[in-house]
Amino acid sequence: MRQIALYKNYAIIRILCVHRSYTDKIYLLSLRPTNAKMQGLVTRNIMKFTELGLNASLLKAVKEEGYTEPTPIQAQAIPVVIEGKDVLAAAQTGTGKTAGFTLPLLERLTHTNPKMGKKQIRVLVLTPTRELAAQVADSVKTYGKYLSYRSTVIFGGVGVNPQLASLRKGVEIVIATPGRLLDIASQDGIDFSALETLVLDEADRMLDMGFIHDIKKLMALMPKKRQTLLFSATFSKEIKALASGLLKDPVLVEVARENSTSGQISQVVYPVDRTRKRELLAQLIKTKNWKQVLVFTRTKHGANRLCKQLEEYSGIKAAAIHGNKSQGARTKALADFKAGNVRVLVATDIAARGIDIDQLPHVVNYELPNVPEDYVHRIGRTGRAGMKGEAVSLVCIDEHALLRNIEKFTKSSIKKVELEAFRPDLSIEAEPIQTGNKNNSRKRKHKNKENIAAQIGANLQAKLNKLDKKSHRRK
Ligand code: AMP
Repeated sequence: MRQIALYKNYAIIRILCVHRSYTDKIYLLSLRPTNAKMQGLVTRNIMKFTELGLNASLLKAVKEEGYTEPTPIQAQAIPVVIEGKDVLAAAQTGTGKTAGFTLPLLERLTHTNPKMGKKQIRVLVLTPTRELAAQVADSVKTYGKYLSYRSTVIFGGVGVNPQLASLRKGVEIVIATPGRLLDIASQDGIDFSALETLVLDEADRMLDMGFIHDIKKLMALMPKKRQTLLFSATFSKEIKALASGLLKDPVLVEVARENSTSGQISQVVYPVDRTRKRELLAQLIKTKNWKQVLVFTRTKHGANRLCKQLEEYSGIKAAAIHGNKSQGARTKALADFKAGNVRVLVATDIAARGIDIDQLPHVVNYELPNVPEDYVHRIGRTGRAGMKGEAVSLVCIDEHALLRNIEKFTKSSIKKVELEAFRPDLSIEAEPIQTGNKNNSRKRKHKNKENIAAQIGANLQAKLNKLDKKSHRRK
């Protein structure tokens, strides 16, 4: 009965034809629940790992990981990827999407045995961040441990020579961030001519991070006849445009709508003054005895400052992870946090993308994100694989509009708890939010007419100077 109820509540499997440009070959499978336990119930009786077309070596590795049933994205994606079809998948981290493409790609590699030339590769996975690249590379190793394929991970912030060396030695699978891969490609360090499958993981983030030009340049080096899989948490117009240029007759797979939050995550908002957030965070960590908490700040500078203050004023061990940190520092911070040597990991949205920590119990929004989707991504770091999680947001007067947007987006009202000792001072007025985001400030600048006029003036002057120089040379 329970299973039927869950099925009714969550497994609203809609098979629809969606986007006009993809006509009637497309299936949109929308499976509501976002946590593995519920997903397990929903997919039960639909598919088993042994029915997906995976070979015994892969099934053995999956079993050793303790997976008993495929998640919805795995049940849907694995057979069609093995068939060689292009896939457009709307899936967030936490849905099991990495195994959803890694397992069938490893399976496909076993179907043929082409002679590989120097620096040629068969599978390329592009990811937005180094952390995600490293995690996907780990998954490839884990699931492929009983197969003999070689893989390597390529990202910036570390020396390029070992990466070039491993490509020279020969690998079938490369997991890379676009910038460094393009550097390597421009030095003829890699040969895409034998590429069979390209995966774009977290494509929406890659576009947000401005990788579109790098991706297009890389694409121009790849064979037209290939399989392409595109994974994205959201389906913006830009993603659809990218997809329609890259994919051929894709099968569309969607699990968990982009604005859904997992029912396993309890959410709470603590109203607090902007200057007292650090104090409140320290109190929550201590009184509730939180051992492992991922804290989100809006800016890199804010992340560093909070870390320092937590250690200095409250004696709480904290580490920061963001784009200004070296790869070594980021890897160490994550490892220390996972091992329990550091109690608080303070992250910005982009750095946290792809961070996969099993059984992470607490996520704190020290500052609310500007984009409601980011709230869903942030809190989705907890409550994974059927575990219970807690997402806490410290909200000051400046952030009331952001909170309203989040509630509208997630179609839910988040519980508010006012703590006596932190009751907000009603005389404090709202201030504009500092984003620390260069793109935003650039946009604002462009909106400013004076700046535009100054820009035009500067461009004109540059052109006049050039003309001047030319006429001097002629004289
Ligand atoms: P991902 O969405 O790929 O980031 O995966 C999220 C987490 O789910 C990872 O920790 C995986 O190890 C785990 N996972 C993946 N597939 C399964 C499965 N079928 N059953 C249980 N856990 C899984």
